[in-house]
Amino acid sequence: MSETNPRDALVVGGGVAGLTAATYLARAGLDTLVVNDGEPIVRRNAHLENVPGFPAGVNSRLFTDLLSEQADRNGADRLTGRVTELDVLGDDDPLFRATVETDDGEDTVEASRVVAASWSDASYLEDTGVDLRAAGSKTYVDVDDLGRTAVPGIYAAGRLTEIYHQAVVAAGDAAETAITLVHDSGTAFYNDWVAPAGYFTDRGREVPPACEEIDADERESRERESREVMREFFAEPHDEPQRTHPSLVDDELGRLDE
Ligand SMILES: Cc1cc2nc3c(=O)[nH]c(=O)nc-3n(C[C@H](O)[C@H](O)[C@H](O)COP(=O)(O)OP(=O)(O)OC[C@H]3O[C@@H](n4cnc5c(N)ncnc54)[C@H](O)[C@@H]3O)c2cc1C
Repeated sequence: MSETNPRDALVVGGGVAGLTAATYLARAGLDTLVVNDGEPIVRRNAHLENVPGFPAGVNSRLFTDLLSEQADRNGADRLTGRVTELDVLGDDDPLFRATVETDDGEDTVEASRVVAASWSDASYLEDTGVDLRAAGSKTYVDVDDLGRTAVPGIYAAGRLTEIYHQAVVAAGDAAETAITLVHDSGTAFYNDWVAPAGYFTDRGREVPPACEEIDADERESRERESREVMREFFAEPHDEPQRTHPSLVDDELGRLDE
């Protein structure tokens, strides 16, 4: 497969940061593709206890499944593959071409903007002009306060930018980076809010861009659906084995047979 139409946004990496960025980008109406190879690092966690919304914690494999489902439901596409190269094609009008290695061979993806959320690989950024910083065995990407790299159109988010090594920090960082990208793209955007009917309009205001007003029926229908979806996800214990550090077991994903 070779994609011909440039995507609005390519997200490299489908961990906490990449999937959160994808949800925000897709909800803002951007045609978004997430390319992920390998496993989000949080899947090595034994029980995730500090992510908001899960008072007794949550299985970390289940947590990333939930993030994938959320990105999907909000309209992002996902592709399994490794980005090995990123070519900068445009200057004033940013355009990028990513080379992606998949199980079926080599693929290319073009996009107007790229979010690098690929902890711990920045090698495909080496020839782009992005500032990379080596620290020990790791390489980090330098960004401004809002996730922009030195190259217009390339953004970075999550642990790859050397933020604190915590899931919710990666998620928040990615949300901020995604909103920055949305603003930079010229897409009309106020806030990504779902408000009750009348919240804006009963005060004589238009519903601002990227906001939505929903009435009581719609709210009940969405709540019903959310309960059904969560019931299904939590109906059984997660069936994938615990992970550990890949160097400790003879398995590149670090799966522990229990
Ligand atoms: C054992 C362990 C326990 C932890 N426990 C907690 C905890 O209890 N609470 C907490 O808040 N945090 C915890 N963390 C930290 C937390 O998991 C991370 O800080 C956070 O998940 C980082 O998210 P990320 O999206 O930046 O990176 P990642 O989740 O690593 O996502 C990057 C993704 O990009 C993929 N990728 C890399 N290169 C490429 C490429 N070239 N092309 C395509 N895909 C690529 C990777 O395979 C991966 O799927 C734990 C971490 C570990 C290791």
